[in-house]
Amino acid sequence: MKRNVDLSEISDGKLYTINDMAKLGCQDCVGCFACCRGMGNSIVLDPLDVFRISEKTGLGFEGLLQAHIELNVVDGIILPNLRQTGLNEACAFLNSEGRCSIHEARPGICRLFPLGRYYEDGDYKYFLQVNECQKGNRTKVKISKWVDTTEYPKYKAYILKWHYFLNEVEELLARSKDEGYNKQCCMLILQAFYMKKYDVTRDFFEQFGERLHVVREALS
Ligand code: SF4
Ligand code: SF4
Repeated sequence: MKRNVDLSEISDGKLYTINDMAKLGCQDCVGCFACCRGMGNSIVLDPLDVFRISEKTGLGFEGLLQAHIELNVVDGIILPNLRQTGLNEACAFLNSEGRCSIHEARPGICRLFPLGRYYEDGDYKYFLQVNECQKGNRTKVKISKWVDTTEYPKYKAYILKWHYFLNEVEELLARSKDEGYNKQCCMLILQAFYMKKYDVTRDFFEQFGERLHVVREALS
């Protein structure tokens, strides 16, 4: 989800890379789950998020749609996001102890928080949102440790491909005046990247690349 905001208003004004340290340490969030509730439809899931959550829960995309995720339009494209449930509007994966029940498989946005990504010239850097986390006395942590993702170079390449692909689709749909065509494009994206099962014995990033190639061809 893109936001047009002035970075100087929401961050400490610095841009970070994966090997930098930033004031992120929050004592393992003990006693706090403020950012796991009341988030509306803002925790948008990319294909890797759904792949990881499916592996962790044993639920396919349709199974997750029953109670844990939902579909919404983001910048003109239909994409899944984490569902908020109950009176507390809590994430469907928050357990009764106020902890994340899918911690190892939590989505990219949850891994980042309170960091955000700032995209520029085909690359991205991180920025630290200073008004988001409720905990004081935050300690410095290396960003690679915070993001906690294996095969980072492949992961970064994937994030960039997905981001710029969505940008292209957004522009394509905005130019089109044909609602039927736009809906077909959205369904193609959902089907290719989220609904069609990935082969767990093969590298996710390779499979993503193949699907991206097919979808690009279909949209061209
Ligand atoms: S607001 Fe901060 S301390 Fe609370 S759950 Fe989120 S990251 Fe953890
Ligand atoms: S997936 Fe986990 S970390 Fe993310 S909002 Fe839900 S409970 Fe919180």
